[in-house]
Amino acid sequence: MNDLSRASELNASIRGNFRGPVRATDLSFVVPAFNEEANIAESIRRIHHHARRLVSSHEIIVVDDGSTDGTLEKTRAVGAQIPLRVIRLSRNFGKEQAIMAGLENAVGAAVVVMDADLQEPLQVLETMLAHRAEGFEVVFATRAHRKDESFAKRLFTSVFYKLLNLGAEAPIPADARDFRLMDRRVVDALCALPERNRFMKGLYGWVGFRTKSVPIELKRRQGGKSKFGFRGLLRLGLTGMTSFTTWPLRVWTGIGFSIAILSILYGLWIMFRTLMFGVDVPGWSTLTVAIFLLGGVQLISIGVLGEYLGRVFTEVKGRPGYIIADVINTEEGCLR
Ligand code: UDP
Ligand code: MG
Repeated sequence: MNDLSRASELNASIRGNFRGPVRATDLSFVVPAFNEEANIAESIRRIHHHARRLVSSHEIIVVDDGSTDGTLEKTRAVGAQIPLRVIRLSRNFGKEQAIMAGLENAVGAAVVVMDADLQEPLQVLETMLAHRAEGFEVVFATRAHRKDESFAKRLFTSVFYKLLNLGAEAPIPADARDFRLMDRRVVDALCALPERNRFMKGLYGWVGFRTKSVPIELKRRQGGKSKFGFRGLLRLGLTGMTSFTTWPLRVWTGIGFSIAILSILYGLWIMFRTLMFGVDVPGWSTLTVAIFLLGGVQLISIGVLGEYLGRVFTEVKGRPGYIIADVINTEEGCLR
């Protein structure tokens, strides 16, 4: 058995130990939550309320992504009234991993991923289900506008997605949310991917399937604060770039060739000038600038290489993307 299949078997057995009783259900909701004590209870209530109207059976899976506040207690308290499956991760593994933990444990014929902060309007569920009935396997929400965001963030986002899409096999829409309805086939495809550095927005597009978008008006966060500051977004952006594009690696070949050709031309020019007009000694500033410039360019290219190598390194180690500490099934009490 090779290392990869051993790792995925280990991963599966870790999950398998905690998997609750499998029963079919129409719709699973996967709700990643990290320090959402202000919102989680109301989110669950609203999801339950809408789901009951729309489908005959559903399950709600809350993934507690290592919260350090009262999220877990609040969730369990609501669980006394509303049947829930709570997956407690052993620490904060990040939203992408929390979503995966939920998807891998969901049993529904379709799965909805949504945030725990009440920003996304649940009313669109009905439209999403209608599109599913028309044969769409993925129905995702897109932001109708980004008026609430700062100019800098909008600029950053648009440049990022342009660069990302330069190399992506399947276009990754800039305004797509994680909030989406996915058919079982799509969820199985996502779960079958072996990579652990995950950029979900890219993977959703990569797996393909018949896809439809619905525009939503994003509400303001009800409580707590956004977990994605500049650093968080930058980290996610780097994961996205390194897992979906290779042009940042290749571009250095072009830059290298250009510099080499320019240098040869410059050398020829100096030779010509020396032969015609004799030696001229000054040239200190040209030399210094050239050394610094080339040093900088080389360091940048090594940095880019390092970024990719780092990802290869974490993949090769084969550690699971997340570790489940507990699965609590509030219908049947604690499973552990
Ligand atoms: N989240 C998570 N783990 C993290 C960060 C965020 O599970 O490490 C969850 C968070 O609780 C919320 C969702 O991901 O349900 C979206 O996070 P947030 O609202 O902070 O992002 P924003 O809407 O500002 O992009
Ligand atoms: Mg939010």
